[in-house]
Amino acid sequence: MQAAIDLFEKARRHERLAQLRAAREHDLVPFFRQLEGEAGPVVRMEGRERVMLGSNNYLGLTGDERVKRAAREALERYGTGLTGSRFLNGTLPLHIELEQQLAEWMGCEDALVFTAGYLANVGTIATLCQPGDTIVCDSGDHASILDACAMSRAKLRPFRHNRVDKLAGVLERAAGDGGGVLVVVDGVFSMEGDLAPLDRISELARAHGARLMVDEAHGVGVLGARGAGACEAFAVESAVDLRMGTFSKSLASCGGFVAGPADVIEFLRIQSRAFMFTAAAVPAAIGAALGALRIIRSPEGRELMDRVLANARYLHRGLAELGYQVNEPSRLPDGSELVTPIVPVVVGDDWRAALLWKALYDAGVYVNVALYPAVPRGHALLRTSVMATHTREHLDRALAAFERVRDAVPESPPVTAASAT
Ligand code: PMP
Repeated sequence: MQAAIDLFEKARRHERLAQLRAAREHDLVPFFRQLEGEAGPVVRMEGRERVMLGSNNYLGLTGDERVKRAAREALERYGTGLTGSRFLNGTLPLHIELEQQLAEWMGCEDALVFTAGYLANVGTIATLCQPGDTIVCDSGDHASILDACAMSRAKLRPFRHNRVDKLAGVLERAAGDGGGVLVVVDGVFSMEGDLAPLDRISELARAHGARLMVDEAHGVGVLGARGAGACEAFAVESAVDLRMGTFSKSLASCGGFVAGPADVIEFLRIQSRAFMFTAAAVPAAIGAALGALRIIRSPEGRELMDRVLANARYLHRGLAELGYQVNEPSRLPDGSELVTPIVPVVVGDDWRAALLWKALYDAGVYVNVALYPAVPRGHALLRTSVMATHTREHLDRALAAFERVRDAVPESPPVTAASAT
């Protein structure tokens, strides 16, 4: 007997491949464009300088000489790789130092460093939650959280993005499921750049006996007086049980962490498969994260954060003035408005987003495009993001390009995926 289908044939017939081929025919593929130098505010890409509005290098520290030196020193001292798990032969004093510093920064008892932020989410959520437990998550949560939920095989009770008015009901039902309950939200949502109302969410989680975990990937190094993230900005640090973060954004490196109570972190250290069954983050990555963290926690860090937030407000206002649909700023509990460094432009149609992306690219501006499944169908975004190291001249150059392409791109798509198959 033969298998009913051939898996390679199924892959070859996938809708995403057809879309990619159609986009390629028109040179409209926004993905895998190669950087030919450092990931600064202006980059060299495919032979041309472009203003980089698609980076998560919020503080611009990937090119900082002190961060590079810290990476080089770690590389020289410990070599290129660790060839093993943190659990066995892959733990360096640098990993421990970073964990201690992260715990102190987060105001938590302990922290655990993973090889990627993705793994930190998977390794925390899928270890704490099992069949019989319930996870309550926002529908806009990052893919790594959703994958972690699936891996845990716990019951999933999602609520519509930021509809905290629905959360009490969801938590009521979750409490009746009979197991433990974990609420997981992004502090700053990765595509929309908006904030989760952590004051209300933490109150509701506590009232229903649920544990709360916040993904601070886009919050650390950007929000709060000490740059400790959205939890700090909302003054809910003590009401949040676990805080996850990544080194792949403000911390100018690669890797991730979770911070929380010492005994829970200890449990993850000996039980988390995504921690134990993968090689430790390489020395240079840990060295760079330590170097970046030193700067972020110094007075200079505050200046960089002020600069990136001022740049975000400037770009947000500029795009709105040009008639682009940008999100409303988020609100903090004291009523103040906050524009995070992620400033999405709502486009809607995938093809129009690809056309706008290409027109901007040709005009010397790189932005990220978020298409389905990164965002719901029909909600394509141009996801722009700013860095502390963008000057006003860079942002004005980008805004001038947005103005030029605004009317040059038709509303209706020139081709469809179906017509190109
Ligand atoms: N959480 C969020 C909200 C993210 O945006 C990302 C990365 N885009 C991750 C987790 C995963 O982090 P990493 O890149 O370190 O794997």
